[in-house]
Amino acid sequence: MQLPTNKPWHHLAADETLRLLGGDADRGLRSNEAEQRLQHYGANRLASRKGKGALLRFLLQFHQPLVHVLIGAGLLSAFLREWVDAGVIFGVVLVNAVVGYIQEAKAVDALAALARTMTTEATVLRDGEKRRINAELLVPGDTVLLQGGDKVPADLRLLRLRELRIDESALTGESVPVEKKPARLAEDAQLADRANMAYASTLVTYGGGTGVVTATGDATEVGRISSLIAETEDLATPLTRKIARFSTIMLYAILALAALTVAVGMLRGQPLFDMFMAAVALAVGAIPEGLPAAVTITLAIGVGRMAKRRAIIRKLPAVETLGSTTVICTDKTGTLTENQMTVQEIAAGGRRYQVGGTGYDPRTGAITRDGRPIAGDAPALVECLRAGALCNDSVLVEAAGVWQIQGDPTEGALLTAARKFGLAPEKLQEEYPRRDAIPFESEHQYMATLHETGRDGDRVIYLKGSVEALLGRSSSQLDEHGSPVAMDADAIMAAVHDMAGRGMRVLALARKTVAQSAAAVTHAEVASGLTFLGLQAMLDPPRPAAVAAVRICRQAGIRVKMITGDHGATAVAIARQVGLIEDDGTQKAVLTGAELGRLSDRELRDRVDETAVFARATPEQKLRLVEALQAKGQVVAMTGDGVNDAPALKRADIGVAMGITGTEVAKEAAAMVLTDDNFSSIEAAVEEGRGVFDNLTKFIVWTLPTNFGEGLVILAAILMGVTLPILPVQILWINMTTAGFLGLALAFEPKEPGIMDRPPRNPQTPIITLELAVRITLVSLMLLIGCFLLFRWETGQGRSLAEARTIAVNLFVVVELCYLLNCRSLNLSFFRLPFFSNLWVFAGIFAMLGLQILYTYAPTMNRLFQSSPIDAAAWGRVFAVGIAVFLLVEIEKMVWRLVRAS
Ligand code: ADP
Ligand code: MG
Repeated sequence: MQLPTNKPWHHLAADETLRLLGGDADRGLRSNEAEQRLQHYGANRLASRKGKGALLRFLLQFHQPLVHVLIGAGLLSAFLREWVDAGVIFGVVLVNAVVGYIQEAKAVDALAALARTMTTEATVLRDGEKRRINAELLVPGDTVLLQGGDKVPADLRLLRLRELRIDESALTGESVPVEKKPARLAEDAQLADRANMAYASTLVTYGGGTGVVTATGDATEVGRISSLIAETEDLATPLTRKIARFSTIMLYAILALAALTVAVGMLRGQPLFDMFMAAVALAVGAIPEGLPAAVTITLAIGVGRMAKRRAIIRKLPAVETLGSTTVICTDKTGTLTENQMTVQEIAAGGRRYQVGGTGYDPRTGAITRDGRPIAGDAPALVECLRAGALCNDSVLVEAAGVWQIQGDPTEGALLTAARKFGLAPEKLQEEYPRRDAIPFESEHQYMATLHETGRDGDRVIYLKGSVEALLGRSSSQLDEHGSPVAMDADAIMAAVHDMAGRGMRVLALARKTVAQSAAAVTHAEVASGLTFLGLQAMLDPPRPAAVAAVRICRQAGIRVKMITGDHGATAVAIARQVGLIEDDGTQKAVLTGAELGRLSDRELRDRVDETAVFARATPEQKLRLVEALQAKGQVVAMTGDGVNDAPALKRADIGVAMGITGTEVAKEAAAMVLTDDNFSSIEAAVEEGRGVFDNLTKFIVWTLPTNFGEGLVILAAILMGVTLPILPVQILWINMTTAGFLGLALAFEPKEPGIMDRPPRNPQTPIITLELAVRITLVSLMLLIGCFLLFRWETGQGRSLAEARTIAVNLFVVVELCYLLNCRSLNLSFFRLPFFSNLWVFAGIFAMLGLQILYTYAPTMNRLFQSSPIDAAAWGRVFAVGIAVFLLVEIEKMVWRLVRAS
């Protein structure tokens, strides 16, 4: 089998295309044929390509300001023929680059792997049936159905369309969605002008249609250009940018100090050689080599932890931003509620009916009236149920006694309700074949389907949607005998309020009879003259986990707002049940979309804080809400699932898309995707985000004193004109080993107790607050004084220079080791933390001590680093300083706790 490829498909007629590709517009391919083609053409995915070449990414590791300084220092050492120093410095630069490269590659891979777990699905025709399959299984010749929100899964020659509009910016850069038309085009039509084609990875923003697959995988247009598209994720986050800026400042400070060192030394008449070596020591000491790698690792660990809690991070900066979230705007249906709909009550023909049972199993209950089975026939009720079953895209399936719904739970509830009255939806669908449909979209709030009736050839349109959408379009209603009578809107609204007030989602049903010739249903056609059929009210219980999560958010100073397309009364009832509304009268509970539309931006800003529920809101209004909240300085997480939610998701500080019900368009726009659509996963992600930020801060607070301490020791030695207590290579030894063995353990620190009892971090406040600056200074000074005094004292006791320097190095390491324990929490006492909650800390400490013993006693190390064995008493003095630092920092933390408490 060899299909023609590379035909100018846009230039061929639709049926010619189908013929060449062996496709069938109405039945699709046969499964075994599709299987064979899959063998032949391979899976429909792009062979992964590295955006930047591995070599380039490796070389870029050297292109950092602080690394430049190190390279300069290495060259200088080589020039001075200090071969060991030069070797070690270049070794460090190399190790640093390798570690940085590996970490970066790992982080990129982790993000890419997460992205892969979110497979794209496609709707195809196979064996004459509509099927939802993994888009990777598509083959040339498949017939694909597109609808608003889909990502086009392969290159398609379009066959039949209804108002299909596609956002092709990913391919052509054109940001306005283009309208598609199936007609043949000239052979030389440019990619952007090929209105009869849909290309893989572009997004359907409106309408729908069918097309036949002309190319898959790397043969698609995007596959051809994807070597040009950088696939690497952007690993820069607000924090890494801050650190980069900080490094640049540090670079200049280090250079200035190094110049000062040389100048002062020369004035003193010290040998130039010594001064250069001191400058090198200063430079390598003050540079926090481990910082960039630690940041990436901590963020990557955070991404992993969030994924375990069902929040997939698509954009790395979100990991950090999550910790500062102050407002979460969430959907209602499926997020705060179970999305397990059961019709409970029906109003039709002026009568109320009760529906028994729960779930989708129709055998669990029956329809009754005032507790009695329904006597005789109830034509209005039947018509109401029939409309619900026909104006419906979902399927109820029973397998081994378990009833499940494929599709929208709201629609599933309607199918179950019909079955409870003995109406089988499949039979109805045969009796009333569907000829056309307007799919449900949140902004229109209704769905309509056109059916043949079999009676005198008349056709009928059935509609279902919100009461607001359908009532105004209706001009009559059915009485209990099923005959049209005048509308009684007041009675209907009274029933709606009664049902919605009890937390039920109310769906209105309507119909319109049209002529036999009607072939399509349009928005204009159903704008008026409908016959109102009744109401079906369904219960969707709140998720118990959402109640708990809302409570945690409140404790953590995060406001939760519900934004829903549902009726105000339903929304408020659910909001009460999950604890979004405090009943102390301080809040204006609800604002409807209509009211919101009348407010100016300024008025909205005034109202947005006090309002907990936005009902009947359109997706477009979400964007206004995000902007109003941001104008008030809030950090906003906003959920969404539809195409129209994309702008709000992009604009929000953290756009959150639904993994199950969300469209591809929404997922593409979001920074985070919830695999379970559950509100409590957002809360969990916020919690993890706070933990990540804590751990990053801990690492920075832990690492800086060493660098400052080393810098200060060198500087002081020069200014005082005395021998260097630590040599450049020794400094490098300290920095490289401790960052890896001690510092990184902080990335695995579990979340602190009470992490959700404090207010969100203000993104404006610096990472190093006054409190932390004091601590860093304190420890730096302790290192300076401790190192200097001990070094002078040891040499004064007649010890060799090598011994005294070994003691100084061990002092630095031991102080870092003790201080690491302090840094396990920034505020809490070390003794309040669960001792063994982070075993990495202890593993790191033991490994580090082992290394120091080697450093001190191994002859090779003695030769390389000019170290020398020391006696037990010297170790005792070193540990005394370490413990003193530990206790001092614990006291300092306690003082801050007391200050905060008063
Ligand atoms: P929510 O924010 O609760 O998810 P939606 O935007 O999904 O709200 O729905 C808004 C309103 O549209 C619902 O209250 C209901 O009246 C109507 N509706 C919801 N789903 C459908 C559907 N599948 N077909 C017709 N109307 C629907
Ligand atoms: Mg919804």
